[in-house]
Amino acid sequence: MGLIVQKFGGSSVATAERIKRAAARVVRTKRAGNRVIVVVSARGDTTDELIELAKEVSEEPPRREIDMLLSTGEQQSVALMAMAVDALGEKSISFAGAQIGVVTDSFHTKAKIKNIDPSRILEALDNDKVAIVAGFQGIDENFNITTLGRGGSDTTAVALAAVLKADVCEIFTDVDGVYTADPRKVPDARKIGRISYDEMLELASLGAQVMQARSIEFAKKYGVAIHVRSSFNDNEGTYIIAEAPEMENIVVSGVAVSKNEAKVTLRGIPDRPGVAATILGAYAARNINVDMIVQNPSAAGITDMSLTVERTDLAEAKKVAAAVLEDLGGQKTEFEENIAKLSVVGIGMRSHTGVAQKMFAALAAEGVNIKMISTSEIKISVIIDAASADKALVAVHQAFDLAKAPA
Ligand code: ADP
Ligand code: ASP
Ligand code: MG
Repeated sequence: MGLIVQKFGGSSVATAERIKRAAARVVRTKRAGNRVIVVVSARGDTTDELIELAKEVSEEPPRREIDMLLSTGEQQSVALMAMAVDALGEKSISFAGAQIGVVTDSFHTKAKIKNIDPSRILEALDNDKVAIVAGFQGIDENFNITTLGRGGSDTTAVALAAVLKADVCEIFTDVDGVYTADPRKVPDARKIGRISYDEMLELASLGAQVMQARSIEFAKKYGVAIHVRSSFNDNEGTYIIAEAPEMENIVVSGVAVSKNEAKVTLRGIPDRPGVAATILGAYAARNINVDMIVQNPSAAGITDMSLTVERTDLAEAKKVAAAVLEDLGGQKTEFEENIAKLSVVGIGMRSHTGVAQKMFAALAAEGVNIKMISTSEIKISVIIDAASADKALVAVHQAFDLAKAPA
Protein backbone atom coordinates (compact mmCIF):
# COMPACT_ATOMS: atom_id res chain seq x y z
CA MET A 1 0.00 0.00 0.00
CA GLY A 2 1.38 3.34 -1.02
CA LEU A 3 0.78 6.96 -0.15
CA ILE A 4 0.25 9.02 -3.26
CA VAL A 5 -0.30 12.73 -3.80
CA GLN A 6 -2.12 13.49 -7.05
CA LYS A 7 -2.28 17.12 -8.19
CA PHE A 8 -4.64 18.20 -10.96
CA GLY A 9 -3.94 21.51 -12.66
CA GLY A 10 -6.53 23.99 -13.89
CA SER A 11 -7.06 22.50 -17.35
CA SER A 12 -7.46 19.02 -15.83
CA VAL A 13 -10.49 20.17 -13.82
CA ALA A 14 -11.82 22.83 -16.21
CA THR A 15 -15.24 21.25 -16.80
CA ALA A 16 -17.60 18.86 -15.01
CA GLU A 17 -16.57 16.17 -17.48
CA ARG A 18 -12.88 16.64 -16.67
CA ILE A 19 -13.50 16.73 -12.93
CA LYS A 20 -15.28 13.40 -13.27
CA ARG A 21 -12.41 11.99 -15.29
CA ALA A 22 -9.87 13.16 -12.70
CA ALA A 23 -12.05 11.74 -9.91
CA ALA A 24 -12.17 8.40 -11.72
CA ARG A 25 -8.38 8.32 -11.76
CA VAL A 26 -8.27 9.14 -8.05
CA VAL A 27 -10.74 6.36 -7.30
CA ARG A 28 -8.77 3.93 -9.45
CA THR A 29 -5.60 4.76 -7.49
CA LYS A 30 -7.42 4.34 -4.18
CA ARG A 31 -8.96 1.00 -5.18
CA ALA A 32 -5.52 -0.25 -6.18
CA GLY A 33 -4.85 -0.13 -2.42
CA ASN A 34 -3.27 3.31 -2.00
CA ARG A 35 -3.91 6.15 0.40
CA VAL A 36 -4.60 9.16 -1.79
CA ILE A 37 -4.29 12.88 -1.19
CA VAL A 38 -5.54 15.05 -4.03
CA VAL A 39 -4.51 18.66 -4.62
CA VAL A 40 -6.52 20.72 -7.07
CA SER A 41 -6.11 24.06 -8.81
CA ALA A 42 -8.82 26.49 -9.78
CA ARG A 43 -10.80 25.41 -12.83
CA GLY A 44 -9.57 26.45 -16.27
CA ASP A 45 -8.92 30.18 -16.47
CA THR A 46 -10.64 31.01 -13.18
CA THR A 47 -7.57 32.59 -11.60
CA ASP A 48 -6.93 34.81 -14.64
CA GLU A 49 -10.57 35.83 -14.76
CA LEU A 50 -10.60 36.77 -11.09
CA ILE A 51 -7.45 38.86 -11.54
CA GLU A 52 -9.10 40.67 -14.47
CA LEU A 53 -12.20 41.28 -12.41
CA ALA A 54 -10.13 42.74 -9.59
CA LYS A 55 -8.41 45.10 -12.03
CA GLU A 56 -11.81 46.27 -13.25
CA VAL A 57 -12.82 47.42 -9.80
CA SER A 58 -9.46 48.82 -8.73
CA GLU A 59 -6.27 49.93 -10.44
CA GLU A 60 -4.15 48.63 -7.62
CA PRO A 61 -6.13 46.16 -5.53
CA PRO A 62 -4.75 45.54 -2.04
CA ARG A 63 -2.81 42.29 -2.17
CA ARG A 64 -4.58 40.89 0.86
CA GLU A 65 -7.89 41.20 -0.98
CA ILE A 66 -6.44 39.64 -4.13
CA ASP A 67 -5.61 36.59 -2.06
CA MET A 68 -9.06 36.52 -0.51
CA LEU A 69 -10.50 36.55 -4.03
CA LEU A 70 -8.15 34.11 -5.76
CA SER A 71 -8.43 31.49 -3.05
CA THR A 72 -12.09 31.06 -3.96
CA GLY A 73 -11.09 29.40 -7.24
CA GLU A 74 -9.41 26.47 -5.54
CA GLN A 75 -12.16 26.28 -2.97
CA GLN A 76 -14.69 25.59 -5.72
CA SER A 77 -12.48 22.88 -7.16
CA VAL A 78 -12.00 20.92 -3.94
CA ALA A 79 -15.72 20.84 -3.24
CA LEU A 80 -16.52 19.70 -6.78
CA MET A 81 -13.79 17.07 -6.72
CA ALA A 82 -15.01 15.73 -3.39
CA MET A 83 -18.53 15.48 -4.82
CA ALA A 84 -17.26 13.66 -7.89
CA VAL A 85 -15.26 11.15 -5.82
CA ASP A 86 -18.26 10.63 -3.55
CA ALA A 87 -20.48 10.01 -6.58
CA LEU A 88 -18.12 7.22 -7.62
CA GLY A 89 -18.69 5.52 -4.27
CA GLU A 90 -15.54 6.46 -2.33
CA LYS A 91 -15.54 8.54 0.83
CA SER A 92 -13.83 11.90 0.54
CA ILE A 93 -13.39 15.19 2.35
CA SER A 94 -12.29 18.55 1.00
CA PHE A 95 -10.07 21.04 2.82
CA ALA A 96 -9.19 24.68 2.28
CA GLY A 97 -5.55 25.51 3.02
CA ALA A 98 -6.46 27.07 6.36
CA GLN A 99 -8.32 23.94 7.46
CA ILE A 100 -5.19 21.83 7.31
CA GLY A 101 -2.93 24.51 8.76
CA VAL A 102 -0.95 25.49 5.67
CA VAL A 103 0.81 28.31 7.49
CA THR A 104 2.69 30.80 5.33
CA ASP A 105 4.50 34.09 5.74
CA SER A 106 2.47 37.25 5.14
CA PHE A 107 3.72 38.25 1.69
CA HIS A 108 0.36 38.29 -0.05
CA THR A 109 0.20 36.90 -3.61
CA LYS A 110 3.59 35.20 -3.21
CA ALA A 111 3.60 33.76 0.26
CA LYS A 112 5.94 30.96 1.26
CA ILE A 113 4.83 27.89 3.19
CA LYS A 114 6.32 27.71 6.69
CA ASN A 115 4.49 24.76 8.09
CA ILE A 116 1.75 22.23 7.36
CA ASP A 117 -0.13 20.32 10.03
CA PRO A 118 -0.86 16.86 8.60
CA SER A 119 -3.14 15.71 11.40
CA ARG A 120 -6.51 16.27 9.73
CA ILE A 121 -5.33 14.68 6.52
CA LEU A 122 -3.98 11.66 8.37
CA GLU A 123 -7.24 11.36 10.26
CA ALA A 124 -9.16 11.40 6.97
CA LEU A 125 -6.88 8.75 5.47
CA ASP A 126 -7.28 6.59 8.60
CA ASN A 127 -11.02 6.82 8.07
CA ASP A 128 -10.56 5.46 4.54
CA LYS A 129 -11.29 8.79 2.92
CA VAL A 130 -9.64 10.54 0.01
CA ALA A 131 -8.31 13.89 1.28
CA ILE A 132 -8.84 16.68 -1.22
CA VAL A 133 -6.82 19.80 -0.60
CA ALA A 134 -7.05 23.25 -2.16
CA GLY A 135 -3.75 24.10 -3.82
CA PHE A 136 -2.10 27.52 -3.95
CA GLN A 137 -3.48 28.82 -0.64
CA GLY A 138 -2.55 29.12 2.97
CA ILE A 139 -3.06 31.27 6.00
CA ASP A 140 -0.62 33.53 7.82
CA GLU A 141 -0.13 33.76 11.57
CA ASN A 142 -2.91 36.35 11.80
CA PHE A 143 -5.40 34.13 9.96
CA ASN A 144 -5.22 36.14 6.73
CA ILE A 145 -5.67 34.03 3.63
CA THR A 146 -2.55 34.00 1.46
CA THR A 147 -1.65 32.58 -1.95
CA LEU A 148 1.62 31.07 -3.09
CA GLY A 149 2.22 32.76 -6.45
CA ARG A 150 1.10 31.63 -9.89
CA GLY A 151 1.38 27.89 -10.30
CA GLY A 152 1.43 27.52 -6.52
CA SER A 153 -0.68 24.37 -6.41
CA ASP A 154 2.42 22.45 -7.50
CA THR A 155 4.11 23.64 -4.32
CA THR A 156 1.15 22.69 -2.14
CA ALA A 157 1.28 19.20 -3.65
CA VAL A 158 5.01 18.71 -3.23
CA ALA A 159 5.02 20.20 0.29
CA LEU A 160 2.24 17.80 1.30
CA ALA A 161 4.13 14.90 -0.27
CA ALA A 162 7.18 15.94 1.77
CA VAL A 163 5.29 16.29 5.05
CA LEU A 164 3.41 13.03 4.57
CA LYS A 165 6.47 11.19 3.17
CA ALA A 166 4.47 10.16 0.11
CA ASP A 167 5.90 7.56 -2.23
CA VAL A 168 5.31 9.80 -5.22
CA CYS A 169 3.81 13.16 -6.10
CA GLU A 170 1.98 12.89 -9.41
CA ILE A 171 1.44 16.18 -11.23
CA PHE A 172 -1.38 15.81 -13.75
CA THR A 173 -1.37 18.47 -16.41
CA ASP A 174 -2.29 19.11 -20.04
CA VAL A 175 0.97 17.90 -21.61
CA ASP A 176 2.62 14.48 -21.39
CA GLY A 177 5.49 15.60 -19.19
CA VAL A 178 8.43 17.98 -19.15
CA TYR A 179 9.70 18.68 -22.65
CA THR A 180 12.98 20.06 -24.02
CA ALA A 181 11.01 23.30 -24.61
CA ASP A 182 7.39 24.37 -24.31
CA PRO A 183 5.69 21.97 -26.75
CA ARG A 184 3.17 24.68 -27.64
CA LYS A 185 5.95 26.92 -28.92
CA VAL A 186 8.38 24.36 -30.29
CA PRO A 187 6.48 21.67 -32.19
CA ASP A 188 9.39 19.21 -32.31
CA ALA A 189 10.18 19.50 -28.58
CA ARG A 190 10.83 16.10 -27.06
CA LYS A 191 9.50 14.63 -23.82
CA ILE A 192 12.26 14.09 -21.26
CA GLY A 193 12.13 10.76 -19.41
CA ARG A 194 14.06 11.77 -16.30
CA ILE A 195 15.40 15.12 -15.24
CA SER A 196 17.39 16.18 -12.17
CA TYR A 197 15.99 18.51 -9.53
CA ASP A 198 18.64 21.12 -10.32
CA GLU A 199 17.82 21.24 -14.02
CA MET A 200 14.08 21.32 -13.40
CA LEU A 201 14.56 24.05 -10.82
CA GLU A 202 16.44 26.17 -13.35
CA LEU A 203 13.96 25.48 -16.17
CA ALA A 204 11.03 26.31 -13.90
CA SER A 205 12.64 29.50 -12.60
CA LEU A 206 13.52 30.52 -16.13
CA GLY A 207 10.00 30.25 -17.50
CA ALA A 208 9.01 26.61 -18.06
CA GLN A 209 5.59 27.04 -16.56
CA VAL A 210 4.93 23.32 -16.22
CA MET A 211 6.15 23.30 -12.57
CA GLN A 212 6.35 26.13 -10.07
CA ALA A 213 10.03 26.59 -9.19
CA ARG A 214 9.41 26.64 -5.46
CA SER A 215 7.89 23.17 -5.63
CA ILE A 216 11.17 21.82 -6.97
CA GLU A 217 13.10 23.44 -4.11
CA PHE A 218 10.89 21.50 -1.70
CA ALA A 219 11.23 18.32 -3.73
CA LYS A 220 15.01 18.53 -3.73
CA LYS A 221 15.25 19.38 -0.06
CA TYR A 222 13.01 16.52 1.04
CA GLY A 223 13.76 14.05 -1.76
CA VAL A 224 10.20 13.94 -3.11
CA ALA A 225 9.94 11.95 -6.34
CA ILE A 226 7.75 13.82 -8.81
CA HIS A 227 6.04 12.31 -11.83
CA VAL A 228 4.72 14.93 -14.27
CA ARG A 229 2.16 13.40 -16.63
CA SER A 230 -0.97 14.01 -18.63
CA SER A 231 -4.41 13.83 -17.07
CA PHE A 232 -5.80 12.93 -20.51
CA ASN A 233 -3.96 9.63 -21.07
CA ASP A 234 -2.02 6.93 -19.20
CA ASN A 235 1.36 7.60 -20.81
CA GLU A 236 4.49 7.63 -18.69
CA GLY A 237 5.49 11.20 -18.07
CA THR A 238 8.68 12.73 -16.73
CA TYR A 239 10.33 11.76 -13.44
CA ILE A 240 11.98 14.60 -11.56
CA ILE A 241 14.57 12.95 -9.35
CA ALA A 242 17.99 13.29 -7.76
CA GLU A 243 20.88 13.58 -10.15
CA ALA A 244 22.39 10.36 -11.53
CA PRO A 245 25.98 10.30 -12.89
CA GLU A 246 24.99 9.60 -16.52
CA MET A 247 22.78 12.70 -16.61
CA GLU A 248 25.90 14.81 -16.97
CA ASN A 249 26.46 13.41 -20.47
CA ILE A 250 23.61 15.57 -21.71
CA VAL A 251 24.99 19.05 -22.24
CA VAL A 252 21.70 20.92 -22.71
CA SER A 253 18.49 19.40 -21.33
CA GLY A 254 16.09 22.15 -22.21
CA VAL A 255 15.42 25.68 -23.34
CA ALA A 256 13.03 28.06 -21.60
CA VAL A 257 11.70 31.49 -22.29
CA SER A 258 10.12 33.94 -19.88
CA LYS A 259 8.23 37.01 -20.94
CA ASN A 260 7.51 38.01 -17.37
CA GLU A 261 10.59 40.24 -17.39
CA ALA A 262 11.24 43.94 -17.03
CA LYS A 263 14.44 45.94 -16.88
CA VAL A 264 15.12 48.74 -14.45
CA THR A 265 18.08 51.10 -15.01
CA LEU A 266 19.42 53.60 -12.51
CA ARG A 267 21.59 56.18 -14.26
CA GLY A 268 24.26 58.37 -12.74
CA ILE A 269 24.46 56.78 -9.32
CA PRO A 270 27.53 57.27 -7.11
CA ASP A 271 30.27 54.65 -7.47
CA ARG A 272 31.17 53.91 -3.87
CA PRO A 273 30.92 51.01 -1.44
CA GLY A 274 27.39 50.32 -0.21
CA VAL A 275 25.44 51.63 -3.20
CA ALA A 276 24.62 48.22 -4.67
CA ALA A 277 23.70 46.98 -1.21
CA THR A 278 21.35 49.93 -0.72
CA ILE A 279 19.61 49.29 -4.05
CA LEU A 280 19.23 45.56 -3.60
CA GLY A 281 18.23 46.06 0.02
CA ALA A 282 15.38 48.32 -1.04
CA TYR A 283 14.09 45.65 -3.44
CA ALA A 284 14.45 42.87 -0.89
CA ALA A 285 12.50 44.91 1.67
CA ARG A 286 9.54 44.99 -0.73
CA ASN A 287 9.94 41.27 -1.50
CA ILE A 288 10.70 42.02 -5.16
CA ASN A 289 12.92 39.40 -6.73
CA VAL A 290 15.88 40.84 -8.57
CA ASP A 291 17.29 38.50 -11.18
CA MET A 292 20.08 39.81 -13.42
CA ILE A 293 22.27 42.71 -12.29
CA VAL A 294 24.68 44.61 -14.52
CA GLN A 295 26.83 47.54 -13.46
CA ASN A 296 28.66 49.57 -16.09
CA PRO A 297 32.29 50.64 -15.68
CA SER A 298 32.23 53.93 -13.85
CA ALA A 299 33.49 57.30 -15.02
CA ALA A 300 34.16 60.31 -12.78
CA GLY A 301 32.86 58.52 -9.72
CA ILE A 302 29.43 57.73 -11.11
CA THR A 303 28.02 54.64 -12.74
CA ASP A 304 24.81 53.02 -14.09
CA MET A 305 23.14 49.88 -12.84
CA SER A 306 20.55 47.74 -14.63
CA LEU A 307 18.60 44.95 -13.11
CA THR A 308 15.72 42.75 -14.13
CA VAL A 309 12.58 42.02 -12.12
CA GLU A 310 9.38 40.14 -12.84
CA ARG A 311 7.16 42.25 -15.08
CA THR A 312 4.30 41.73 -12.68
CA ASP A 313 6.41 43.54 -10.08
CA LEU A 314 7.25 46.47 -12.36
CA ALA A 315 4.78 48.98 -10.91
CA GLU A 316 6.26 48.46 -7.48
CA ALA A 317 9.81 48.23 -8.83
CA LYS A 318 9.38 51.70 -10.35
CA LYS A 319 8.45 53.16 -6.98
CA VAL A 320 11.44 51.51 -5.33
CA ALA A 321 13.75 52.79 -8.09
CA ALA A 322 12.48 56.35 -7.68
CA ALA A 323 12.96 56.21 -3.91
CA VAL A 324 16.53 54.82 -4.02
CA LEU A 325 17.49 57.24 -6.80
CA GLU A 326 16.48 60.12 -4.59
CA ASP A 327 18.18 58.53 -1.60
CA LEU A 328 21.49 58.05 -3.43
CA GLY A 329 21.36 61.26 -5.43
CA GLY A 330 21.32 59.56 -8.85
CA GLN A 331 20.39 61.13 -12.21
CA LYS A 332 17.46 59.22 -13.67
CA THR A 333 15.58 55.94 -13.95
CA GLU A 334 14.68 54.04 -17.13
CA PHE A 335 12.37 51.09 -17.57
CA GLU A 336 11.99 48.52 -20.34
CA GLU A 337 9.02 46.18 -20.48
CA ASN A 338 9.11 44.47 -23.84
CA ILE A 339 11.93 42.11 -23.10
CA ALA A 340 12.18 38.36 -22.65
CA LYS A 341 14.69 36.01 -21.10
CA LEU A 342 15.84 32.99 -23.07
CA SER A 343 17.84 30.31 -21.30
CA VAL A 344 19.52 27.00 -21.96
CA VAL A 345 19.87 24.58 -19.04
CA GLY A 346 21.87 21.42 -18.53
CA ILE A 347 24.10 19.87 -15.88
CA GLY A 348 26.44 18.73 -18.66
CA MET A 349 27.54 22.35 -19.03
CA ARG A 350 29.72 21.81 -15.98
CA SER A 351 32.02 19.58 -18.01
CA HIS A 352 31.47 20.73 -21.61
CA THR A 353 32.64 23.94 -23.27
CA GLY A 354 31.30 25.95 -26.22
CA VAL A 355 27.69 26.12 -25.05
CA ALA A 356 27.49 29.91 -24.90
CA GLN A 357 29.14 30.27 -28.29
CA LYS A 358 26.63 27.89 -29.89
CA MET A 359 23.70 29.70 -28.31
CA PHE A 360 24.92 33.17 -29.29
CA ALA A 361 25.68 32.02 -32.85
CA ALA A 362 22.13 30.69 -33.21
CA LEU A 363 20.76 34.05 -32.04
CA ALA A 364 23.06 35.96 -34.37
CA ALA A 365 21.91 33.87 -37.33
CA GLU A 366 18.35 34.99 -36.54
CA GLY A 367 19.42 38.62 -36.22
CA VAL A 368 18.51 38.67 -32.52
CA ASN A 369 20.39 41.21 -30.42
CA ILE A 370 21.49 40.30 -26.89
CA LYS A 371 20.86 42.98 -24.25
CA MET A 372 22.12 41.24 -21.11
CA ILE A 373 23.82 37.92 -20.36
CA SER A 374 24.04 35.91 -17.18
CA THR A 375 25.41 32.46 -16.49
CA SER A 376 25.58 29.92 -13.72
CA GLU A 377 27.15 26.50 -13.54
CA ILE A 378 24.25 24.87 -15.36
CA LYS A 379 22.53 27.64 -17.34
CA ILE A 380 23.06 30.53 -19.73
CA SER A 381 20.42 33.26 -19.96
CA VAL A 382 20.12 36.21 -22.29
CA ILE A 383 17.74 39.15 -22.33
CA ILE A 384 16.38 39.88 -25.81
CA ASP A 385 13.44 41.74 -27.35
CA ALA A 386 10.14 40.07 -26.43
CA ALA A 387 9.08 40.22 -30.07
CA SER A 388 11.86 37.87 -31.19
CA ALA A 389 11.58 35.48 -28.23
CA ASP A 390 9.58 32.74 -29.93
CA LYS A 391 11.74 32.49 -33.04
CA ALA A 392 14.86 32.64 -30.87
CA LEU A 393 13.52 29.76 -28.80
CA VAL A 394 12.99 27.60 -31.87
CA ALA A 395 16.41 28.51 -33.27
CA VAL A 396 18.28 27.68 -30.06
CA HIS A 397 16.34 24.42 -29.60
CA GLN A 398 17.37 23.50 -33.13
CA ALA A 399 21.00 24.54 -32.64
CA PHE A 400 21.38 22.06 -29.77
CA ASP A 401 19.58 19.32 -31.71
CA LEU A 402 17.17 18.82 -28.84
CA ALA A 403 14.46 17.16 -30.93
CA LYS A 404 16.73 14.13 -31.22
CA ALA A 405 16.92 11.67 -28.33
CA PRO A 406 20.37 11.66 -26.69
CA ALA A 407 22.53 8.58 -27.30
P1 ADP B 1 -1.53 23.24 -14.93
O1 ADP B 1 -2.73 24.06 -15.08
O2 ADP B 1 -1.79 21.78 -15.10
O3 ADP B 1 -0.74 23.56 -13.71
P2 ADP B 1 0.29 24.83 -16.50
O4 ADP B 1 -0.37 25.63 -17.57
O5 ADP B 1 0.70 25.51 -15.26
O6 ADP B 1 -0.62 23.57 -16.20
O7 ADP B 1 1.59 24.11 -17.09
C1 ADP B 1 1.50 23.29 -18.24
C2 ADP B 1 1.95 24.08 -19.44
O8 ADP B 1 3.33 24.40 -19.31
C3 ADP B 1 1.88 23.32 -20.75
O9 ADP B 1 0.61 23.44 -21.32
C4 ADP B 1 2.99 23.95 -21.57
O10 ADP B 1 2.47 24.82 -22.57
C5 ADP B 1 3.80 24.75 -20.58
N1 ADP B 1 5.23 24.47 -20.65
C6 ADP B 1 6.21 25.42 -20.70
N2 ADP B 1 7.40 24.87 -20.80
C7 ADP B 1 7.23 23.52 -20.78
C8 ADP B 1 8.12 22.41 -20.85
N3 ADP B 1 9.44 22.55 -20.94
N4 ADP B 1 7.58 21.17 -20.82
C9 ADP B 1 6.25 21.00 -20.72
N5 ADP B 1 5.36 22.02 -20.67
C10 ADP B 1 5.83 23.27 -20.69
N1 ASP C 1 -4.78 28.69 -9.72
C1 ASP C 1 -3.45 29.18 -9.49
C2 ASP C 1 -2.89 29.77 -10.77
O1 ASP C 1 -3.56 29.79 -11.77
C3 ASP C 1 -2.55 28.14 -8.92
C4 ASP C 1 -2.23 26.98 -9.83
O2 ASP C 1 -2.92 26.74 -10.82
O3 ASP C 1 -1.28 26.24 -9.52
O4 ASP C 1 -1.77 30.23 -10.78
MG1 MG D 1 0.61 25.09 -13.22
